Amino acid sequence: MLAADFSRLAEETTMVNGSLADWFHLDVMDGQFVPNISYGFPVIEAIKRHAIKPLDVHLMIASPEKYIENFRNAGADIITVHYEACTHLHRCLHQIKETGAKAGVALNPHTPVELLSDVLEDVDLVLVMSVNPGFGGQKFIYRALSKIERLKTMMIERNINAYIEVDGGVGLQNAERLLQAGANVLVAGSSVFGAANPTEAIARMKSIGAIT
Ligand code: ZN
Repeated sequence: MLAADFSRLAEETTMVNGSLADWFHLDVMDGQFVPNISYGFPVIEAIKRHAIKPLDVHLMIASPEKYIENFRNAGADIITVHYEACTHLHRCLHQIKETGAKAGVALNPHTPVELLSDVLEDVDLVLVMSVNPGFGGQKFIYRALSKIERLKTMMIERNINAYIEVDGGVGLQNAERLLQAGANVLVAGSSVFGAANPTEAIARMKSIGAIT
């Protein structure tokens, strides 16, 4: 939703409701963990009022453990925190689960998936960043493909069924390769909202696989 027109938020939300997308993906940025500021609770609450699909809230913020309850109350169904932002990641993931939300962990492009080895059983979702977080509309980093493959292998070896989500520079040009690598949730922003017909853009992505 970062790429949506915020002056038409209700219409944009209705468009996603009526499309083949499965989730709303909301990028929260705090100007500290990432160099940009996006939006917070009032916008999430506004989307929640109109949304008929789950809200997948991606927290690109420092000290996310302070706000888990607030994001859940604002309407988050899935809450994803950054590995790099959590000193006590295990505690934070369980804090999310205790609110009844699904718990996700996100990795910046420089963070190896192997660092998740000791929390993999505790997550519902792993988000692999395929751009450096902070801005929409960036170019896809192709090394993300091998990270997804390694993560998928780790999960298969340990019989773990968490979602593998990719975020950043995702579009029709790389969706198939991402799904082949093992991803099963694709976040599309600019490639959907920048299209002449967003509903059709979502349908085209969905004809390849999953999308949020
Ligand atoms: Zn995101």
